[in-house]
Amino acid sequence: LTHPELRAHPLFASPTVDGEEKSMPTLHANDAPVQKTPQEAYAARLRGEGLLDVQDKASGAHLGSVGIALDEHVDAAVGAATQAQVSWAHLPPVMRGDVLRKFVVAVERSAADIATQIVRETGSIRAKADWEVAMTCREVLEAAALCSAPSGHLLATAVVGRESVARRIPIGLVGVITPWNSPFLLAARAVAPALAMGNGVLLKPDPNTPICGGLWFADLFEEAGLPAGLFHVLPGGAQTGDLLVRHPGVKMVSFTGSTRAGRAIGATAGQMLKRVSLELGGNNPVVVLDDADLEGALAAGAWGSFFHQGQICLTSGRHIVDSAMYDNYISGLAKRAQALTVGDPYTSDVQLGPIINERQAANLDRILTKSVAMGARLVCGGEREGLFFRPTVLADVQPGMPAFDEEIFGPIAAVTRAVSDEDAASLANCTDYGLAAAVFSRDIARARRVADAIHAGIVHINDQTVLHEVFGPIGGVGSSGNGFNHSTLTNADQFTEWQWMTVRTDVPSYPF
Ligand code: NAD
Repeated sequence: LTHPELRAHPLFASPTVDGEEKSMPTLHANDAPVQKTPQEAYAARLRGEGLLDVQDKASGAHLGSVGIALDEHVDAAVGAATQAQVSWAHLPPVMRGDVLRKFVVAVERSAADIATQIVRETGSIRAKADWEVAMTCREVLEAAALCSAPSGHLLATAVVGRESVARRIPIGLVGVITPWNSPFLLAARAVAPALAMGNGVLLKPDPNTPICGGLWFADLFEEAGLPAGLFHVLPGGAQTGDLLVRHPGVKMVSFTGSTRAGRAIGATAGQMLKRVSLELGGNNPVVVLDDADLEGALAAGAWGSFFHQGQICLTSGRHIVDSAMYDNYISGLAKRAQALTVGDPYTSDVQLGPIINERQAANLDRILTKSVAMGARLVCGGEREGLFFRPTVLADVQPGMPAFDEEIFGPIAAVTRAVSDEDAASLANCTDYGLAAAVFSRDIARARRVADAIHAGIVHINDQTVLHEVFGPIGGVGSSGNGFNHSTLTNADQFTEWQWMTVRTDVPSYPF
């Protein structure tokens, strides 16, 4: 489903949120459909094949079906957006900002419904969904504000009669590929600044969340008066994403997702000399020094590990705790984990919802089983009923164990003993990832020394790692990303190119 004209295209099934059971094939992120010729694909679509089945993650209920964008749809979207982008780029920027502000009004009007859809499609608890909608409004308002910021510099020049300017120009079409864990927010944080800076946008949401991560944007932008053709939602899996990345009409790719997919996308984009922003996974350390406020660190640590079932790139994965605090920290964390409720967040007031799918839940089982076999100690949790995984504390975790080396992406807090501040910093750095880190200590100078020694794109002192503010540059280093950051501070750089322009009223004379 795409913006106005393509919306009516017979190949796109309307999403139905009626709970009606239909026997549709279910596709997951990595089950790319076999490539068909356009004629075969068209015939298959008429037979009702090639649809994404949208499910409530807690109950498995069928929420609707969404068409998968094939190459002809990506082509059509690129064609329409390329045309529409020209006049959008020429619009006075403040008028682009006005459309984004109207988008926020539309979001606020539908906030409760959007949050419900987030709860059902992602399995997140209501509080997280409400937070995501509110945070999205903030992201879009900040993007709108970019439209009234200066867009260039009057430069120095050594030549009389030359006016020399550096000005920002739009990139053209930006392809945005997003994950399922915070689908509304992570789409908005790229789509809104890309539009603000005068670009057209093609959004490819994760197949787990095609409605709250994709189709809803088409409706809201239509309501906000975005010019037709400028923005398209192209649902599908990795194959649709790959079509977007490879399309010569797409001039930049903004990707948020796993390191594995980011490497593949980065390789293709690099080959095509295409700008690519990669916001990837994390394996984020929380360092607790021996003089930390223990109760404060425990509350923060539990939140950082278990919020949204630990399925956040910024999740506090590894707790690196000084020997002096170690036993008390583990027992305190276990007490908090055991008190948490797990269940269906749509029908009950719980603190943790389901894991996104069986593949991801089975991966948590593997990480736990293998780490325990290698000597880690299961303190609490570790069991699950279907997708409902109990918050888990795993102690005595060492480098070399999957619970230390891998991004867990589930509610498992892995705790490792450190014998000194230097040891703690060195354990924190014992990873290829470099997204977020946290240090707890009552001695701020000491905490800063440890924080300075940690290699990460984000570091917090006396707070946990799951912090999101549009004003703070969010991005990672190493396997966590290629150095692009999302924020008010950096978005204009991310979604524009600099152009050097000179102007003279007379043509200068040259020797030949
Ligand atoms: P994923 O990489 O499998 O999927 C993310 C998106 O990429 C989906 O839309 C998917 O269809 C698409 N995709 C997958 N392979 C592709 C390919 N080869 N070409 C084009 N598109 C492709 O991610 P996931 O495992 O479902 O999501 C969780 C991951 O996202 C975690 O690693 C998490 O840390 C990361 N994440 C990072 C941030 C951040 O800001 N750094 C934020 C949220 C999530």
